[in-house]
Amino acid sequence: MDTERLLKYFDQNTDMKHWGVVLVILILMTGVYALVYQTGGIKFVYSHSMYIPILLSGLVFGSAGGIIFGLIGGIILGPFMPIDVETGESQESINWLYRTGFFALIGFFSGVASDAARSYVKKLQWISFHDRSTGLPNRSALIDAIKKLSLQKNSADLSHLLIAVSLENKIELKAALGFGVIEEAFVQLAKRFTDQDKSNQIFYTDTAQLVILTRIHHRKAEDFLHEISNISKEPILYNDIPIHIDTRMGYVIFDRISEEPEVYLRKAEAALTVAYQQELDSVPYTSDILSCTKENLSILGELKGALSEGQLSLYYQPKIVIATGEVHGVEALIRWHHPVRGEILPDVFISRAEQSTLIDLLTEFSLEQAIDQIKRWQEKGISMPVSVNISPKNLVKPGFSKMVLRHLNHYGISSNMLELEITERGLMLDIERTIEELNQLVGAQLIISIDDFGTGYSSLQYLHRLPVSLIKIDQSFILKLPNDKGAANIVEAAVTLAHKMGIKVLAEGVENQQIYDYLAKIGCDQAQGFLFSRPIPAEEFERWWIAYKRRPTQVSSM
Ligand code: C2E
Ligand code: CA
Ligand code: CA
Repeated sequence: MDTERLLKYFDQNTDMKHWGVVLVILILMTGVYALVYQTGGIKFVYSHSMYIPILLSGLVFGSAGGIIFGLIGGIILGPFMPIDVETGESQESINWLYRTGFFALIGFFSGVASDAARSYVKKLQWISFHDRSTGLPNRSALIDAIKKLSLQKNSADLSHLLIAVSLENKIELKAALGFGVIEEAFVQLAKRFTDQDKSNQIFYTDTAQLVILTRIHHRKAEDFLHEISNISKEPILYNDIPIHIDTRMGYVIFDRISEEPEVYLRKAEAALTVAYQQELDSVPYTSDILSCTKENLSILGELKGALSEGQLSLYYQPKIVIATGEVHGVEALIRWHHPVRGEILPDVFISRAEQSTLIDLLTEFSLEQAIDQIKRWQEKGISMPVSVNISPKNLVKPGFSKMVLRHLNHYGISSNMLELEITERGLMLDIERTIEELNQLVGAQLIISIDDFGTGYSSLQYLHRLPVSLIKIDQSFILKLPNDKGAANIVEAAVTLAHKMGIKVLAEGVENQQIYDYLAKIGCDQAQGFLFSRPIPAEEFERWWIAYKRRPTQVSSM
């Protein structure tokens, strides 16, 4: 029997109508009296049958009940019961008093045994519905609470709200202060949430996750979440030291219970994952979140196999020197040729891979392929520098620059043929560590460029410290040129600033001649975009390049 069924069994037993049991015991005792009397009196063995109702009373009513019914049983078989019915000889008082005392003792022991069993069962019940270290109700208790919601009467303008709360800085906290701090944080948070409103039910559903289950007015959900978010950001006290905590929340609102209770929890947890990914305070569950999470997992699951099975390859897109129209080099862009899904663009899988360690394998793959391609071209007499996209996470990983140099060395390629593109957002992940790693790479003659320039927020203040040769202005600005004044101002300012610092500028997303002419006018150095070529496989690029070199005049007449 599993614990849950065992508990139910005991629950039902203690729920039995006590008066019914009293009646049963009394009937049994009367039955024993009749049996003893009918069989000739107390001197025969049948008086021992009295143990049955006495043991039963102890079992049901505990030690006190056992003693009382022991005494009653003793009296029933006492002064009113002759030793021998036939002769009518009555018992000596000491006889029946001794027996009565003995019965009471038996009742008491049966009660003690049953009390112990009862408290053990209670303990089991507590354990199966609580987290032992925090003492908070656990996942099973939550599932139970959701099940019970379906029994509640539904009010038209009240909804159920289930919020999964986790600590954003849990890894840092655990590393600095041990796991105890996480538990303490959740205990203190749980107290705050119940203090906020006594009707909030709090559960500790995971090693580092609280769940709040409450009922709210439809229109008040936002305010409620805001309040919860605010009170959870107050520092906690750990060993009398205030500790800063940051929380993330995923939540789901529902009116009726139409699915299994676990589903609601899963939805809130899926929304919580998105809150983590997008660094948001709280995220509501929407129907696409769960399917997205599933797809995420299946894509990541397949990606590793895809790498080893050769489903991934690099395409190349030329970068043009605006002043001369020459091809300055190519950017390597990864493509996944999926046997079932067809061509998958990097936007679909790169960001997912970045959330796992797969990004390391992926970047190393791109680097090695690109270096291999440089070598193949060199063998054909083509000197074509290749730039490779690097994820921010790669750069802060120890040994990254060594890995890059090892591959270059292995293929016998000089470092200045390889350019690394790092997104502006990525630089901010750990700026000091990044600068250190970039300096090592530049020291080894590699070329570094900042990708998607203009989409980050704060790299301008670091630009002078970064050993970069080129900034690539994000296509979101370039595509609006030349008519959008705001975009034009930003691009012009970026060109001026970069030139002042001795850094070259490339415009991404050059789709038409008008944009190209404008870029030439403001002195932008390089251009990349569909106007020249889409990203294409290496052999196709070779053919494109031959044709491009034979073009009658410069790009302006293409
Ligand atoms: P990105 O580095 O900004 O690459 C430029 C993207 O713009 C490419 O998309 C390219 O196909 C597209 N593009 C080029 N010219 C034009 C144009 O004229 N108009 C428009 N609308 N788009 C243009 P793609 O190949 O889908 O790559 C998307 C992103 O995926 C890249 O953005 C880059 O951040 C990332 N990525 C690609 N390959 C790799 C890789 O090997 N490793 C890593 N870590 N990231 C990669
Ligand atoms: Ca790029
Ligand atoms: Ca870019």
